[in-house]
Amino acid sequence: MVVGDVTTGTDVLIIGGGPGGYTAAIRAAQHGLDATLVERDAYGGTCLNYGCIPSKAMITATDIAHEARHAETMGIHADPTVDMRTLVEWKDGVVDQLTGGVEKLCKGNGVNLVEGTATFVDDETVRIAHGGEGQGSESIEFEHAIVATGSRPMELPGFDFADDRVWSSRDALDADEVPDELVVVGAGYIGMELSTTFAKAGADVTVVELLEDVLPSYEDDISRVVRNRATDLGIDFRFHESAIEWLASDDGDSIEVVTESEGGEETVLEADRVLVAVGREPVTDGLELEALDLATDDRGFIETDDRARTDLEHVFAIGDVAGEPMLAHKASAEGIVAAGVAAGEPAALDHQAIPAAVFTDPEIGTVGLTEAEAEDAGCDPVVGSFPLRASGRALSMDESEGFVRLVADAETEFLLGGQIVAPEASELIAEVGLAIEMGATLEDLAGTVHAHPTLSEAVMEAAENAQEQAIHTLNR
Ligand code: FAD
Ligand code: NAD
Repeated sequence: MVVGDVTTGTDVLIIGGGPGGYTAAIRAAQHGLDATLVERDAYGGTCLNYGCIPSKAMITATDIAHEARHAETMGIHADPTVDMRTLVEWKDGVVDQLTGGVEKLCKGNGVNLVEGTATFVDDETVRIAHGGEGQGSESIEFEHAIVATGSRPMELPGFDFADDRVWSSRDALDADEVPDELVVVGAGYIGMELSTTFAKAGADVTVVELLEDVLPSYEDDISRVVRNRATDLGIDFRFHESAIEWLASDDGDSIEVVTESEGGEETVLEADRVLVAVGREPVTDGLELEALDLATDDRGFIETDDRARTDLEHVFAIGDVAGEPMLAHKASAEGIVAAGVAAGEPAALDHQAIPAAVFTDPEIGTVGLTEAEAEDAGCDPVVGSFPLRASGRALSMDESEGFVRLVADAETEFLLGGQIVAPEASELIAEVGLAIEMGATLEDLAGTVHAHPTLSEAVMEAAENAQEQAIHTLNR
């Protein structure tokens, strides 16, 4: 203990107030445990302050501008421009509302909130350094600790985020104007969501991606729909290329981004800003995990079991710091499990039905197994699909690209997974997730009367298609 420290004790100490940490803290308090949440920056973590919520606010706003600009065929004529400063102010207001809400919810549930940076001293004590220099510190002894310290953007060699012209996603979400020309490095989740947003805001966007397509972790027909729409928006793609350096142009603020193809050929792209979105890495520095002797994998993620426990039974790791998928709802779900286990409940995480949603144009929603994954898992899958061009609601929204696909076990008809590319796919996928969780069959989905005209009818139609009973498509 440092001289001058005050030492207190708590049942559960949670480090990090993102969607993993604050959910764990509230649930631990609801279990009747004394819960203490330590946060060094802002309640709500990356998700509320610099990630999910700000990006979705920007996406919504630029969608409105884009749709208004392209509604001539519906007899609507408008030429909106995007005032980025006002947009960012509005986004900040949304964020403030939510982060204030998190703080109130924690207090209302009896969680002790401590502001500062936590460092492990040993396997039952952390030291908290408050604020800046001279702000003091305290030590807290814990029965259980939950590490929920999240992740940060990975830097690309030569692209230092300290320079104003090199953007991380956080910088992009705080832009004070729309750059005329934007280079985006990485066509993953962030690269595709933000390149679409900035293209709709009026920027000329070029995306540089190491692999052969956008969103390479998704099936080809899903990536294709999103890539085609992005191309229609005017986004240029450079696949099989990496950004290797950037240079300031002679003319002041603009830059040149140098890319290299697989064959070693260099290209120079003119730009005003470059957004680097090549993945995220776990935040564990400063925690002194060595004091606990905790195992991390080769990428630095803390290793855990299905009960969110590390090598030490009383120390848990949840959310991004515990590895892929780095999604807010996965962090919260793990937080609930960790709090339950700390309270002596028989809780465990079932990864089978964790959905993923990408807020591109159109959106992607997936849950459970793809057809190939089902085969690899030894199942005999049956697949049904429904194209959006056959949906009355989709056409009345002027949307016809995309589909709903369901994967089920051929013999039992139990639902195994679903992939949706459509407007509101992030919402539609919830029905498929619920169906998997509840052990529903194709008949359950096909036999559920869906309101007309809605996009959700496409889920029912895909189930009917898998049963060779489709009304609005020809059965395969
Ligand atoms: P975080 O939210 O990162 O929170 C960790 C917290 O720990 C931080 O507040 C940090 O200050 C604090 N901390 C770290 N070290 C210490 C310490 N030593 N002491 C005290 N406090 C500490 N996910 C989705 O599911 N949907 C989306 O639409 C989505 N969009 C995204 C968009 C962007 C641009 C980005 C960057 C991410 C997005 N994500 C999205 C991912 C999502 O933000 C993360 O998966 C989620 O925030 C992880 O939650 P977490 O609680 O593990 O960590
Ligand atoms: P990502 O892993 O989704 O994509 C990174 C992309 O960069 C990949 O396609 C990769 O091939 C490419 N890449 C890597 N090195 C490169 C290089 N040198 N040059 C060109 N391309 C390169 O990572 P991200 O987009 O940074 O997002 C990080 C995480 O944040 C995601 O894994 C996701 O978990 C989370 N996120 C989720 C959402 C959502 O749920 N809607 C939105 C944004 C972020």
